[in-house]
Amino acid sequence: MSIRTPIARITAKSSRPEAYPKPRWRRELATAIRQPEVLLQALGLEHYESPLSRSGFGMLVPHSYVARMRKGEPRDPLLLQVLPGGHESGYAAGYGTDPVGDLAAMAIPGLIHKYQGRVLLLLTGACAIHCRYCFRQHFPYSANIGHRLWDTWLAHIRADTSIHEVIFSGGDPLTLDDRRLSEFVEQLAEIPHLRTLRIHTRLPIVLPSRVTEALLSWLTGTRLQPVMVIHANHPQEIDSEVAQALRRIRTAGVLLLNQSVLLRGINDCSSTLATLSRVLFEADTLPYYLHLLDRVQGAHHFEVSEKEALRLMKELRASLPGYLLPRLVKEEGGKVSKTSI
Ligand code: SF4
Repeated sequence: MSIRTPIARITAKSSRPEAYPKPRWRRELATAIRQPEVLLQALGLEHYESPLSRSGFGMLVPHSYVARMRKGEPRDPLLLQVLPGGHESGYAAGYGTDPVGDLAAMAIPGLIHKYQGRVLLLLTGACAIHCRYCFRQHFPYSANIGHRLWDTWLAHIRADTSIHEVIFSGGDPLTLDDRRLSEFVEQLAEIPHLRTLRIHTRLPIVLPSRVTEALLSWLTGTRLQPVMVIHANHPQEIDSEVAQALRRIRTAGVLLLNQSVLLRGINDCSSTLATLSRVLFEADTLPYYLHLLDRVQGAHHFEVSEKEALRLMKELRASLPGYLLPRLVKEEGGKVSKTSI
């Protein structure tokens, strides 16, 4: 596989004139911190070495997420997820730019058809945060996203009656406006063989103000069964505002699941993972997957070995009821399902 040059991530901006005031989440996203030195200063770490962002995958972190970091703590588990580091730029053998085989699994631009009955749509390349371990950090979004593709996706799904579930992904699909998402969901709901709408998003964790009435309205107002899979890695990410946002989603009737990535120095400790499961449960969310790191260039310093992961799962099993135990998995390109470890 050729090594691709990282592309600039697309930030969530609208070129249309604003007829109404921007919702709070949009304003928060617009003022997110993009310079490592500003973030370090906000945390009282101005004397800590300020790393340069690798070109193409700059830093992005909203203030509400920064507010959950501990001041004066360079090893804070939230800070480590977002702060670029010099170790990102070196080449690591065994790591690639498309570690889960997304490009090979694309049936048409922006539509990934890996697993039976489900298709994943890359609605946008924008996120509200840039996670340094992201497996799509090198993805060539510009050729594979955009409203212009939506009609071809609809035609593809209409023509394949084996597809019963559509997954909104990206980037983060909830960086798009509710009006646009709502219109697209209406069109999907007209396809008779579709039954389930799944949203993969980190927004309720990173920017809980994104959980608006408008969002809940289109998500629960469709005939499609809604599922939301959020992404939290550490209990410190779930403060009272996040917990409240998650409870609202669940109360509205959306199945709410969490997936985490096992990350060295962040959550590679069974008591942290057990606390995460409990905190999620208190916020009406069930642990779903614990992923081994996808071996993407720039993220090798986060890897936890399979042996270590199995040891952690053994400890977790001893301390949690079965329904709070995430499934340890890894994703491998070309496989018909995720691999359980
Ligand atoms: S892990 Fe998710 S939220 Fe984070 S950068 Fe990747 S796509 Fe965006």
